[in-house]
Amino acid sequence: MDIKTVGVVGAGVMGIGVSQSLAQNSHQVILLDISEKVLEHARQEIKNNIRFQNFFTKNEKGDKSEKIISRITFSTNYHLLADAEFIIENATEKWLIKKEIYEKIDTICPKDTVFAANTSAIPITRIASATQRPAQIIGMHFMNPVPLKPVVETIRGYHTSEATIQIAKKLLAQMGKECILVNDSPGFVSNRVLMLTINEAVFLLQDQVATAEEIDRIFKTCFGHKMGPLETADLIGLDTILFSIEILYESFNDSKYRPSPLLKKMVDAGLYGRKNGQGFYTYNT
Ligand code: NAD
Repeated sequence: MDIKTVGVVGAGVMGIGVSQSLAQNSHQVILLDISEKVLEHARQEIKNNIRFQNFFTKNEKGDKSEKIISRITFSTNYHLLADAEFIIENATEKWLIKKEIYEKIDTICPKDTVFAANTSAIPITRIASATQRPAQIIGMHFMNPVPLKPVVETIRGYHTSEATIQIAKKLLAQMGKECILVNDSPGFVSNRVLMLTINEAVFLLQDQVATAEEIDRIFKTCFGHKMGPLETADLIGLDTILFSIEILYESFNDSKYRPSPLLKKMVDAGLYGRKNGQGFYTYNT
């Protein structure tokens, strides 16, 4: 049976992309955040993104943004999630925040609802321990920007059942996405490598070995990467990068994951990257 209604927890960078992708593929979405202001910003961003896409795809059937937006219920009321058949959680990358969310939704949602964690680094097995349904917890590490990325790194926790994996694959297929299934480990495959690379690039900047532009240009021109590590950090969000590298550091107890002091300073100064206009580069917000 097709999954019709999906609950999306967290309406930041990723919650916006996941909700848009679901609504564009005809799902009903319940998008939840703790702040009305964040939800209003999410509504506006989704509308702008759809119009922008239509412009570039020269969609001649007119502006579909209102129809797509009408499939999304924007709310701060957790109890609406009782109607969702599947939950995708995209809240802030902090264990204590996620733990509280999973404990709450575990009591609100029907017993057969699957919860997918869109986390950068927190082990899925740890997330499952906050619920009474560990077999129905899976990792769905979407890439940013979600509507444009065809593959999702999908993570099997210690207790994740085969049935849960099949349901998750089906939902991703409905969203037009494939999955690469990996076993659980802090940071999984992608971020165990990427977070180290970004952190080391910030150390290079801190040590004045090169400017941000030079560091990024080396990766783009020499390795053919579409974006350099510091541009990628700005796209992800420097706060999310710092929280993720801190989780890797704490999980492996290995000094190679110690966060760069410059990264910490930038986050303390409120320089989060694209999402608030200033990171390693400056953006129009
Ligand atoms: P973000 O900071 O842009 O958004 C997080 C949102 O969570 C905020 O809107 C915040 O208000 C909300 N939130 C906090 N506590 C909440 C609660 N109790 N209930 C509901 N909402 C709550 O972060 P993001 O970049 O969207 O990242 C979200 C998750 O996705 C993180 O776990 C992150 O590691 C992961 N992720 C991020 C990226 C990326 O490129 N940014 C990529 C893959 C995965």
